[in-house]
Amino acid sequence: MRDIIQAIKDAGVVGAGGAGFPTHVKLSATVDTVIANGAECEPLLEADLAVMALEPVKVLEGLKIAMAATGATRGYVAVKKKRESVLRAMTELVQGEEGIEVFALDDVYPIGDEHVLVHEVTGRYVPEGGLPLEAGVVVSNVTTLASVADAAKGRPMISRYVTVAGAVARPITARLPIGTSVADAIALAGGPQTERYRVIMGGPIMGKLAPDTSAVVTKVTGGIIVLPADHPQVKMRESDIGTIIRQAKAACCQCMSCTETCPRHLLGHRIAPHLIMRAVSMSPGAPPDAVASAWLCSECAVCATVSCPSGLSPVRVNQALKASMARKGLRNPYHEKGIVSHPLRGARRVPSSRVITRAGVGSYAARPGTSYAEAGRTAHYSAGTECLSEAFEPDRVIIPLLQHAGAPAMPCVKVGDEVRKGQPIAEIPEGKLGARVHASISGLVSDIGNAITIVAGRRG
Ligand code: SF4
Ligand code: SF4
Repeated sequence: MRDIIQAIKDAGVVGAGGAGFPTHVKLSATVDTVIANGAECEPLLEADLAVMALEPVKVLEGLKIAMAATGATRGYVAVKKKRESVLRAMTELVQGEEGIEVFALDDVYPIGDEHVLVHEVTGRYVPEGGLPLEAGVVVSNVTTLASVADAAKGRPMISRYVTVAGAVARPITARLPIGTSVADAIALAGGPQTERYRVIMGGPIMGKLAPDTSAVVTKVTGGIIVLPADHPQVKMRESDIGTIIRQAKAACCQCMSCTETCPRHLLGHRIAPHLIMRAVSMSPGAPPDAVASAWLCSECAVCATVSCPSGLSPVRVNQALKASMARKGLRNPYHEKGIVSHPLRGARRVPSSRVITRAGVGSYAARPGTSYAEAGRTAHYSAGTECLSEAFEPDRVIIPLLQHAGAPAMPCVKVGDEVRKGQPIAEIPEGKLGARVHASISGLVSDIGNAITIVAGRRG
């Protein structure tokens, strides 16, 4: 197994669905179960859907490699029930595979959250503030597992499916080289449909505002969402934390709706966002450890998007508190293993349709019936974006040295070097957690800073 772990490390594979944790480290753990996470619960995103529809064999191969590497005897491909044709195809594919089955997920948000997913699929609880491997499980995104299968064949992680949606002429899901600019991606989607717009990198609920269209696709970019500049999801992100807290002081009526629907609270974690809001509002009655419980927030934004009748944002407060505590060197003190979910958890799970409506992105969703085609094979299934099968080759890529958890990669090329697609251009610093970085197009290295810029065309 050392060989496959080394191959994954050499290929620079990182978790494609979240913080970009290096996969060679994750798969060095010993567990009994691996879950291929195909939930993709953010509205509008269909990047994981594209992988499952177009590269299902790779997903299965990656899952089997992950199981072998971790010693797991059970594997699940977790797919939402609403993805009927993918669910059917994956179910057929795993027939006869020992210990592997497909698990059909309800269409609730955020069912792809690792704590929620592990409980839904296995019935186990990940300890609050803990990792799935403490419950004997590795959760790996389906895009990551497809990259693991590529790595086993010596192919590095140099591109990924990205959904470009929202206020664009032609919502698409396309395989884009790492380092492709947001401007190029939006142009590929027919351009913006509004003059004044902002871009969210990731999904519309949990994604981050891009400073401008020079932002680039990284190994963890599943979506590029274009929204009008005055869209509530943009305005909410633009509000400074002082304003958010002033609003909490003025308008939080302590109705507890945020707590009653908080997915982590419902799993039994000791987080109650209404108490955190009470604490930051300096209102009486907040328990002394309320602020520290912000560590347990997954930042799913159910509280801000769906729950709060006053339009407040407990999630932004929690993000600010976590950042502040981290700056002070404080650590999460919560690590209860014996948690039990709320008796009403099942009834209080939030349907994805409600999230889509409350997030104000319903008008950008649902154009079902699109065909995905690749190499002469056409798979028909419900999708809201058009999947481009042709490879996109930008004129220039800007490849960040830090697009993963850990230390930035160290360049091993210099300005003026000619590089070919797939060639390593930055290495993991000695003794550090990190991931290798490769050229995603062939060309000339024109700049090196926090990223390596390659201009296409010098080498085919
Ligand atoms: S973002 Fe809100 S709903 Fe989600 S875990 Fe944090 S407090 Fe709970
Ligand atoms: S839902 Fe809104 S108003 Fe109600 S307790 Fe939470 S933050 Fe306060």
